[in-house]
Amino acid sequence: MVETAFIDNPDDAKLLVEREDDFARAIARGVTDFFRNEQPLPDVVDTPTKSSGAVSSHFNASEFVCHCCGQGKVDPRLIELLEQLRAKAGKPIHINCGYRCPSHNAQVGGVPNSQHVLGTAADITIPEIGFERARELVEKIDFDGTGFYPPLDGGGAWFIHVDVRDGGIGSHIEWWN
Ligand SMILES: [Zn+2]
Ligand SMILES: [Zn+2]
Repeated sequence: MVETAFIDNPDDAKLLVEREDDFARAIARGVTDFFRNEQPLPDVVDTPTKSSGAVSSHFNASEFVCHCCGQGKVDPRLIELLEQLRAKAGKPIHINCGYRCPSHNAQVGGVPNSQHVLGTAADITIPEIGFERARELVEKIDFDGTGFYPPLDGGGAWFIHVDVRDGGIGSHIEWWN
């Protein structure tokens, strides 16, 4: 059974309507990946609109592209840590937001030097395990930055920001919404 997005979330509902092909391709890729050996990570991935190239065994470049223009890049260190998280969770990680182009970043009120603009950040959910368990697992992974956005009213949508900002050895920044 495949759970692709939350239909009661307006952003997700929009994706379900507008990116039907991407969902279909991602599901198909899940099947083909299952029968294929893991491929080495590319250094930096620059992806055109609706690219469906695999960047690791569980992630696809198209999951990290800007929601407004389909441009994108993703840091291979971020992919590596997301794979570590995926392994601990044993459940699919949903990438709400990966790369943001500067104009989209400004539009959503992101800080100008947002890690999302650099391709070093992702906002994620792990729908099958819930916020608390996801938070526990994220804290075991060596992300450089983590921002927690827990569900409001005990049951709403939540996400966790993770990034691989270059803050020096052992540095870590964490915030809560
Ligand atoms: Zn954009
Ligand atoms: Zn973020």
